Amino acid sequence: MKKILFIVVVPVLAFLLSCAPVKKQSKELPRVAICGLAIESSTFSPAQSGVEAFRTRRGDEVFTYYPFLSPDSVDRNRALWFPALRGHAIPGGIVTREAYESLVNETLEMLKKNLPYDGIFFDIHGAMSVVGLDDPEGDFIIRIREVVGWETVISTSMDLHGNVSWRLAENTDLITCYRLAPHEDALESKQRALENLLDRLESGKGKPAYKAWIPVPILLPGEKTSTRIEPGKSLYAKVAPVAARDGITDAAIWIGYAWADEPRNQGVVMVTGDDKDVVTCGAEELATAFWKVRDEFEFVAPVAPLNECLDMAVSATEHPFIISDMGDNPTAGGAGDVTWTLTEILARPEFKTEKGPSLIYASIPGPDFVEKAVEAGVGGKVTGFAGAAVDARFAPPVHLTGVVKAIEYGDEAAETEVVVQVGSVKVIVTKNRKPYHYEKDFTRLGLNPRETDIVVVKIGYLVPELYDMRAGWIMAQTPGGVDQDLERLGYKRINRPMYPLDKDMADPDLKARLVPVSAGK
Ligand SMILES: [Zn+2]
Repeated sequence: MKKILFIVVVPVLAFLLSCAPVKKQSKELPRVAICGLAIESSTFSPAQSGVEAFRTRRGDEVFTYYPFLSPDSVDRNRALWFPALRGHAIPGGIVTREAYESLVNETLEMLKKNLPYDGIFFDIHGAMSVVGLDDPEGDFIIRIREVVGWETVISTSMDLHGNVSWRLAENTDLITCYRLAPHEDALESKQRALENLLDRLESGKGKPAYKAWIPVPILLPGEKTSTRIEPGKSLYAKVAPVAARDGITDAAIWIGYAWADEPRNQGVVMVTGDDKDVVTCGAEELATAFWKVRDEFEFVAPVAPLNECLDMAVSATEHPFIISDMGDNPTAGGAGDVTWTLTEILARPEFKTEKGPSLIYASIPGPDFVEKAVEAGVGGKVTGFAGAAVDARFAPPVHLTGVVKAIEYGDEAAETEVVVQVGSVKVIVTKNRKPYHYEKDFTRLGLNPRETDIVVVKIGYLVPELYDMRAGWIMAQTPGGVDQDLERLGYKRINRPMYPLDKDMADPDLKARLVPVSAGK
């Protein structure tokens, strides 16, 4: 009996098991690659960004950048993944041609290994400048097309401060950007770009039939276009309802990037989908809404020359009073080592002794100074120069003499950080430049910004943690590679007329241009 059972059951089981994988294979998962480079780089700064400026992830490490692609996530199980190379950098100066070529070529080589692809998640910022090359993201996507072909559906995810050239629009199929500034929705936007791609692949709909592109001749600094305040708040609130309409896949408004000088630097609206009328109307509605509020954009906080800012800070009764040293904001593309502001602060009589108002200055890079501080040790006295190694146009390296208050090692960006007290000013000096955005950036150095009278940060609009901490806030009109006074930059190549540089310009043509569906030439 047992033997008979064995003879009958085993072959049946074997037959069933051999069928199971066949059944699974009949619903094949799409093959999706991931790649992209993200940096915003100012061409109005003497700084240059090399390959080391990028934090690069390769292969499976790319997944660690996307929580929505963790191993047990729903999206992770919707495709066969081929992560190639994904790099992002702290904004900075123009990217060297060598760095760009090496990162792009490495990406292309990795993509060649797993051809063909049904889809590519192209995750970029959109405001990269490269020495001797216009529209790098447009160049990059064409070179990807030359490797993967024109059948592959590419979904591009961007920062709203990126630029969308016609050729980027032409070579991508899906495209979107953030809807909040500060970018609290960055991951949500990337996930939307990825899920739109997966949805189109799974449903077999593939490339959307229509892509409407409208350049809006407005160029504004990010510090005037926060979505926390009007008119950015209401303008960006219009995007999601348009994107939700039947026949539309996604909709987006790009503010663009003001510190580079190419024809692509301007505002853009794009809407993608399958219903021509709904797509074009949606895009025209958003472009018209953007143009209509063009003269309502103001700085997100009061703005004043530095000395006035310091006067206000010194006499303020509530603390901390935060000052944005915004002309050299490294998170927008400044060199981050302009010493002008710190030099001015140290020259003020109020801060000359320890009894003066407490002030934290975050931060100035100075590798030699850091070395000396490490030698002196905590509690030791140190003297030396810091800053202005890259951008010395406004002030020379600043001379600092004081007591070392803290030394910290191991920060991903700064590597080594020291705090030196000069009079009543605690200056953070770093080996490499680093933006100070989080409370823990300060507390790990033994600093308590909440109980400090004045905090000066190289930043434009405040990131959420600092914003919530502030008792007072003013943005100082300081010089640097991302000078907020665009009139002083001296553009030569952007399209003209451009609002607000050409204040009295006539209304532009805001009719939707339909971009051809991506296809080989
Ligand atoms: Zn941005």
